[in-house]
Amino acid sequence: MRPVPRSSHAMPSLLAVLLLCLASLARGADASPDIRLYALDCGRIELSDMRMFDDSGALDGKPGTMSVPCFLIRHPKGLLLWDTGLGDSLAGGPGVDFHPGVHGSVRTTLASQLATLGIEPADIDYLAFSHWHLDHTGNANLFGHATWILQRRELAAATGPTPPPFEALTPVVAYRSAKLRMIDGDADVFGDGSVRLLSMPGHTPGHQVLELRLPQAGAVLLSGDLYHSRENRRLRRVPRVNVDRAATLASMDRFEALARRDHARVVIQHDPRDIALLPRFPAYLH
Ligand SMILES: [Zn+2]
Repeated sequence: MRPVPRSSHAMPSLLAVLLLCLASLARGADASPDIRLYALDCGRIELSDMRMFDDSGALDGKPGTMSVPCFLIRHPKGLLLWDTGLGDSLAGGPGVDFHPGVHGSVRTTLASQLATLGIEPADIDYLAFSHWHLDHTGNANLFGHATWILQRRELAAATGPTPPPFEALTPVVAYRSAKLRMIDGDADVFGDGSVRLLSMPGHTPGHQVLELRLPQAGAVLLSGDLYHSRENRRLRRVPRVNVDRAATLASMDRFEALARRDHARVVIQHDPRDIALLPRFPAYLH
């Protein structure tokens, strides 16, 4: 009986190992970093008249409710907080009228939600805002240890006189002693293209949107206040309170082109329907 050459057994297993190596290399080449997106409840706003959010007049006299989320992004290189809500000082109380007919309230604090994940405010590495209105900067002063990534134009506008009804309840001061990364346009937060701030002015001079590339959910766009509702988006309605109508429309064009190109999931931050579709905290989108 002829001995079976060893190579006839060895070859298939060598081939299998080689194929496994090639497969893992291929996976590594397009693997997204392990990123998690948490949506936190940072309040709600009830309005007796939504007229300020549509200059066509279609919302005149109509009441509405807006969600006020904050978002935590956990990236292998650090934690980013996107928007900081109305402010924990409102929690547990009846809320406050920011302006006649505009009522804000907070059910649970941002700090306690972060604590659920074992995170202290001082653990947040990066802080960024869609823009500097009071419903996005309420807890900003908790994060003096973070690096603040700020649009230069937004900071300049926000530190000037603010027209009602967007005056801060608590003035934002922590940036004065925080580490600052000043930007003029788009920025790649972690340097790998997975989390990008995209300049989309119009609502305010330095308004921006957050673009994420999640490993399983794919592209996600957090709208900031580019849109306040799904109807705003579908009908391209420009809020009366925006500082620049033409810039708003150009930003909408840019946003929609990106959303189409990347088949992105769009989250309109102030639309409770979009927030309700996200995994309920402490679950996350991945
Ligand atoms: Zn807002």
